[in-house]
Amino acid sequence: MKVYKFGGASVKDAEGIRNVLRIVSREKGDLIIVVSAMGKTTNALERVVNARWENCEDVALSEYAAIRNQHQAIAKELGLSQTVQQALFATNLVSDIPFVDNYDLFYDQIVCTGELNSSRLLSAYLNANGVENELLMMPQLLITDTTYREAKVNMTVSAENVRQAIGQSKAHVFVTQGFIGGTPDKHFTTLGREGSDYSAALLANFIDAESVTIWKDVPGILNADPRLVENTILIPELSYSEAVELAYSGAQVIHPKSIRPVENKKIPLYVRPFNAPDEAGSVICEINKRVNVPVYIWRKNQLLITMKAKDFSFILEESLSAIFDIINRHRLKVSLIQSSAVTISVCVDNTRYVPDAIKELSKAFAVTYNDGLSLLTIRGTSPEILAREQANREILLTQTTRRTARIVVKEG
Ligand code: ASP
Ligand code: MG
Repeated sequence: MKVYKFGGASVKDAEGIRNVLRIVSREKGDLIIVVSAMGKTTNALERVVNARWENCEDVALSEYAAIRNQHQAIAKELGLSQTVQQALFATNLVSDIPFVDNYDLFYDQIVCTGELNSSRLLSAYLNANGVENELLMMPQLLITDTTYREAKVNMTVSAENVRQAIGQSKAHVFVTQGFIGGTPDKHFTTLGREGSDYSAALLANFIDAESVTIWKDVPGILNADPRLVENTILIPELSYSEAVELAYSGAQVIHPKSIRPVENKKIPLYVRPFNAPDEAGSVICEINKRVNVPVYIWRKNQLLITMKAKDFSFILEESLSAIFDIINRHRLKVSLIQSSAVTISVCVDNTRYVPDAIKELSKAFAVTYNDGLSLLTIRGTSPEILAREQANREILLTQTTRRTARIVVKEG
């Protein structure tokens, strides 16, 4: 059995869905198809959440209507029945989903509908066009804790559930949702933005899949983001360790959490272009080879926080675990660490959790910070490359090792 994952960009419209049919029709073996929400639906759903959270009901209603109309129009264009069309976003995201006074919990109950509906639509379209399939519901199979918006998966229970659901079915093709799961008491959860890759990798791990293929709007894994850099180079093969470093540094092509589940079972993970399915793309697998071109990765919207011990004590010896306890409790994502005798600086993603974390850190430490920053990681760097990247930029911090340079720069 193979796992195919289609991201939002590959299912953004009717033509995208038709293309999924073309790609999956080529596959003769058993298949699990994992799908994200269509196009920018997750962002639109976040706007519904925020509008409701701020009591702007009419804004929420018009956002919801736009999402529903768009899905129904695509289903209509694909020739799906009235019944299928009307079932899409039939749940009214404003009046049918009760308000709860816990932002993260509330968020997940609304945002999960993106994947629930894209998978419903795709499954119906494939069934109507010769690819008989069964729809699997991840909220019932992928069981998580209650860390809403970043739920942790119970691997043992979920693996058992997924194996059972597939084992009991006569189907050869399954369609299911990326990014979402459910708690034992039946609340919906999400696994973190862009988490569909992670879902695909987990499913592959559970069923010992032959491979995972992530179909994307890029030719494969490139040495830089093609939206930022001209003349990018395709990396045909990379090891799990290189891949996890790249993803962690902020390479958008693959979610950092998706490497471990495939590495643990040595399952190859392909990244291939959905608009050129004959091309090989890239593969992440068990090889002992380094990438031989410099790789540039930008992680944007960073904040550099510096903490200084108020009593002039040595920070690494006396305060490190207290600092990281606060950072982890507030779900900050650390992208870089640097220390001196009495200070420690961390670069973190600038999320909505930051202000509360800073408030708590400030109780014990003198805290200063800079926002509006980006972290550039260059793997396979050289003094020339580093000098070129540093030129004409306002640099707050540079860290280098033999092969890797990381610079924190002011966003221009
Ligand atoms: N739809 C979710 C998001 O946009 C998950 C994903 O696309 O992987 O973050
Ligand atoms: Mg996506």
